Amino acid sequence: MHGCIFHALFLLALSQRKRKEQYDLIIQVGDLGIWADPAKADGATQRFAQKNPEQFDSQYLIHPQEEHVQFFQVVQSLLRVPIRFIKGNHEDFEGLPRESPFAIDEFGLFEYVLDGRVLEWGGSRIGFMGGSHNAKKPEGRLNPSAIAKFVELNRGQIDILVTHDAPYNASCGFTGQIQGCQAITQMVEALRPRVHVFGHLHKILALNAIADVDSYCVPCVVDPVREKRDLERQAIKSGCLFILDTDNQKTEFVSDRWLSEIDRKTTVVEWTRILSEEQS
Ligand SMILES: [Zn+2]
Repeated sequence: MHGCIFHALFLLALSQRKRKEQYDLIIQVGDLGIWADPAKADGATQRFAQKNPEQFDSQYLIHPQEEHVQFFQVVQSLLRVPIRFIKGNHEDFEGLPRESPFAIDEFGLFEYVLDGRVLEWGGSRIGFMGGSHNAKKPEGRLNPSAIAKFVELNRGQIDILVTHDAPYNASCGFTGQIQGCQAITQMVEALRPRVHVFGHLHKILALNAIADVDSYCVPCVVDPVREKRDLERQAIKSGCLFILDTDNQKTEFVSDRWLSEIDRKTTVVEWTRILSEEQS
């Protein structure tokens, strides 16, 4: 999400309606970026936010004005479940709870899950591992003891693995550099989950470099704005919502046509109206 919570929450609530589905569990793969005070954001976030102030929309979760309260309340009533999230490498680490799952906002929209936690849900065991091997801040790096704990678990003890960072050689960067890290590969090889989902690389990927494991990279909700005219382009990135149907193990990167019809510049008041209308 990288702080663009209005776009992300609107997408989630609207997608349920468009797809005639109610999500049972919602997970965010790190770099949520809740900055209660934008002045405290890291250097990279500050740079992106200069052209892309939406990255600081997250401040209104902690310090909401009346229009934000109405939006968050409507979204919460539609989603019904909190969004569980792991840490990425761009977070307000000082603001993250020390225990989990732990609500971080008064609306009950987001709950933080610590590295190395396993949640049982609907007959599946879901393992969570935030952080990145190349995080600038030490608090954003992978937690070696949490990784060691997962590596020691027997094969099949985790059905769904959620990480922020990617397995080694998941993809190449803009200048051809190998992306991903060996620690994630080692963990996936040891655990052999049915499904592994990660973020961090900002692109859609579907891999099975590790035997019996399908790994998916989920991109961010809106791409960064580099020039003013970018604001006229597609609002919500196709594929940023990835759905796993545990009844039939079907997976899907949501790329429905209505995604392209969402206006990036819509106000919170207007998004609240659209969602309220759909609700009634
Ligand atoms: Zn990241």
